Parts: sequence; structure tokens; C-alpha cells
Amino acid sequence: MTDTATEQSPRADAAHEHGWLTESSHQTSEGRVLYVRCTRCGVRRVDLQPHPLLPPQSLSRDCG
Ligand SMILES: [Zn+2]
Repeated sequence: MTDTATEQSPRADAAHEHGWLTESSHQTSEGRVLYVRCTRCGVRRVDLQPHPLLPPQSLSRDCG
């Protein structure tokens, strides 16, 4: 239990680690945009990966 107490997740059991599956992605001038979905609770997120060697950053928190 650390962070997600006030997070609005549809029906995620409180403390599972989201298992993000990339549904689609496309290249933009800002970097690579990744549309990911948690395979466990179905929550969606949009990530931006500015560089192939850098980890993606979340653009939106659990919108869906
Ligand atoms: Zn999840």
C-alpha cells in the first residue's frame, strides 16, 4: 500500500501492479506514443516514449 489510495481506477483491486499491454503505438514528432491497457483491470493509459532507449512516460493516468 503506497500510492494509489485516491486514484480513480474503475475496479482495480487496490494494490496490484498494472500489467501494461501495448495495444497500439505510433511515431510522432515528440516521440513514440504508446496506447497501453492493463491486462488485469482493463484500465487504459497513454505513454510517450521520447527516445527508444528511454522508458515511456505516462501522459494520462488511468483514464478509462
Ligand atoms: Zn491494472
